[in-house]
Amino acid sequence: MAGGVWRFAQMVTAVYEVGAALFGACVGSFLNVVVHRLPQEDPARRSLGGRSRCPGCGKPIRWYDNLPVLAWFLLRGRARCCGGRISFRYPLVELLTAGLFLLLAVAQPFGDVFRPGPDGTSQVHGPSLAAQGFQAVFVALLVANTFIDIDTQLLLDALTKPGMAIGLLGGLWPGVAGPLSAHPEVPPALDTLLASLAGLAVGGGVTWAIRIVGTRVFRREAMGFGDVKFLAMIGAFLGWRPACVTMLLACLFGAVIGGAGALFRGTARIPFGPYLALGASVALFATDELLDFLFVAWPEWQRSSPAARWFLPVLALFSFVALIVLVRRGRRPG
Ligand SMILES: [Zn+2]
Repeated sequence: MAGGVWRFAQMVTAVYEVGAALFGACVGSFLNVVVHRLPQEDPARRSLGGRSRCPGCGKPIRWYDNLPVLAWFLLRGRARCCGGRISFRYPLVELLTAGLFLLLAVAQPFGDVFRPGPDGTSQVHGPSLAAQGFQAVFVALLVANTFIDIDTQLLLDALTKPGMAIGLLGGLWPGVAGPLSAHPEVPPALDTLLASLAGLAVGGGVTWAIRIVGTRVFRREAMGFGDVKFLAMIGAFLGWRPACVTMLLACLFGAVIGGAGALFRGTARIPFGPYLALGASVALFATDELLDFLFVAWPEWQRSSPAARWFLPVLALFSFVALIVLVRRGRRPG
């Protein structure tokens, strides 16, 4: 009997995870519409309602040609109506969103959704399920902002401002950001709302400070005001410590990936939004591990291991050699 209950619990978890991935693919399909339509100047074309139309010839797309991920592969990347090429971006956004939703369902970074009940069966834990809902909205906002920033070099108020509001609402209720003080005399709802507000203030403040200092030093706009609002939104969802981790990772990713991209393509103009989104995705799942590594494991290793003193010079030398190889390859004609 116990084995049967255990197997049933496993099946429920598997259905939940597969369902999350399929739901994510559908949300990704909607995000394609958001990314395509929201930055449009014309208010009529900005509307998110109405049927999907072929970007090539404007004919309405049938539902079976609009199935997430699947349709693109069945049609081999060509529109049925006019034969126009459909960008691989569409299934990519759907796959990415499906992957993030699956990761959320598997990792459940803010508590288990299914918990053993008193009679040994698994029961749904309401607050954790609600937290998963808020996280799903959060990663969807990250994906939409990423591709809009890549397309237009803008992060839109139409996404970041409602995002801040939803993040704070998440603080008011199930508390994705976790409590700020965890003091027994502070009511839990107030504590998580304060954590969310602190995240909003620190996320926005850190970006604003970098924007001011960077603009003074480089004498041109170092970071857009859209980045300030975007990290404020990320902080409202995750809290202030993950917001700081997000900024750190974004600079790291931006330096490495953006630097390599600039070498190959010769363009230095890098939108910062995608790196913030990438940093936030890592921070969502691994803030505690990263902080532990930075402030506990790394200094301990520095003190204890004789190899530690060689690590940074060797890493620097390796980076230098890699950089030279990259530059040489970048300069090769043809
Ligand atoms: Zn067409």
